[in-house]
Amino acid sequence: MAAPRTITILGSTGSIGTQTLDVIGRRSTEYQVRYLTCNTRVDDLVAQARVFQPYGVAIREESAWRRFQELYPDFAGPVLRGEEGLCEAAADEQNDVVLSAMVGFSGVVPTMAAIRSGHVIGLANKETLVSAGAIMTAAARAHGATLLAVDSEHSAIAQCLVGERFSDVARLIITASGGPFRSLPANEFHAITPERALRHPNWSMGSKITIDSATLMNKGFEVIEARWLFDLPSEKIDVIVHPQSIIHSMVEFVDGSVKAQMGVPSMLVPIQYALTYPVRLPLDVPSMDLAAIGSLTFEAADTERFPCLRLAYEALRTEGSAACILNAANEVAVAAFLAGDLPFTGIAEVIARTLDHMEVVAHPSLDDIVAIDGESRRRAAEYLSN
Ligand code: NAD
Ligand code: MG
Repeated sequence: MAAPRTITILGSTGSIGTQTLDVIGRRSTEYQVRYLTCNTRVDDLVAQARVFQPYGVAIREESAWRRFQELYPDFAGPVLRGEEGLCEAAADEQNDVVLSAMVGFSGVVPTMAAIRSGHVIGLANKETLVSAGAIMTAAARAHGATLLAVDSEHSAIAQCLVGERFSDVARLIITASGGPFRSLPANEFHAITPERALRHPNWSMGSKITIDSATLMNKGFEVIEARWLFDLPSEKIDVIVHPQSIIHSMVEFVDGSVKAQMGVPSMLVPIQYALTYPVRLPLDVPSMDLAAIGSLTFEAADTERFPCLRLAYEALRTEGSAACILNAANEVAVAAFLAGDLPFTGIAEVIARTLDHMEVVAHPSLDDIVAIDGESRRRAAEYLSN
């Protein structure tokens, strides 16, 4: 690559954010950091800022914003505050790539700010496309922004599509590890604790997505994400459980040929691919040893034990604001589960009830989506308190 790429990371203190800085740190001459941002973990942000010397930082939470200035009084650049500050960092005209790695609905408005500035966006924050996929993709077209998937499955699909005609795609096959409860009998689901659900077999991730992986809502979200990234209807997006997580996803073409993208599970690969696309740079990750792995296995996803996957497909087929409601209710239910206030099986129940009782808006605007997200959270919280 010629000039260094200027990167802003929304959510730099999280699992994806720190791995993005790991990628950047390995080849510091190829990248320049523009903004680093966080919600509350300001000690981590200070440590990152000291090492990576960004132009500026943005901090969502007021007291964390104040604390940054106490901890790092001689930081020379702008210290932006609140959602407005995140949007300013996202929209900064010096950005080449904005890595959107905040968690949940909090990423929607800042990611939209990056889209409206026409940047290349490395999108890890899938809830953005789940909640507002139609609006986000229309805005990307209107403003010339490029959405590059960081989610390993969608990066895999994008890599399989290189050199292909999009009209030749017959079907996407998204792989799922199955999570920690893949083989657990249905009658033991009520006793699942947060500690057990947080132990994912193949991936180390933030707590919210780890619970989504345990319920398979994460896979449902990825089906919706694929619908928007690749503009295909739900009938052409299938899920298959593949416990080894070696095949990251597949594309079937009209002639029956199937391409798979494979590798040892590591988010560093899709993160770097989004930062350097369309070229590849060397990356020091373990080489895939198929003889040691021995066998790759596959099984159908069970929507009886994992109703969240079915709910996500239903919300996708309903269209309009349904997936926004799905996402909001899920965020409330997952937080309640993690706090010990809701059993594991209650997560799908809260989501189903919220979906049943919220009216679906056919063509919501971004303001509508923000309001629907808030109302869905209020409803979901009501079911919880009953
Ligand atoms: P995380 O919880 O580890 O990190 C979240 C980051 O967002 C932190 O930097 C936090 O400060 C910031 N943040 C949280 N709430 C915020 C708010 N209200 N305002 C501003 N900033 C806020 O999460 P993660 O695991 O890194 O996941 C980030 C996103 O990437 C999620 O959408 C997740 O689904 C997606 N993703 C993650 C992985 C993974 O391996 N972790 C893989 C694929 C996709
Ligand atoms: Mg994924």
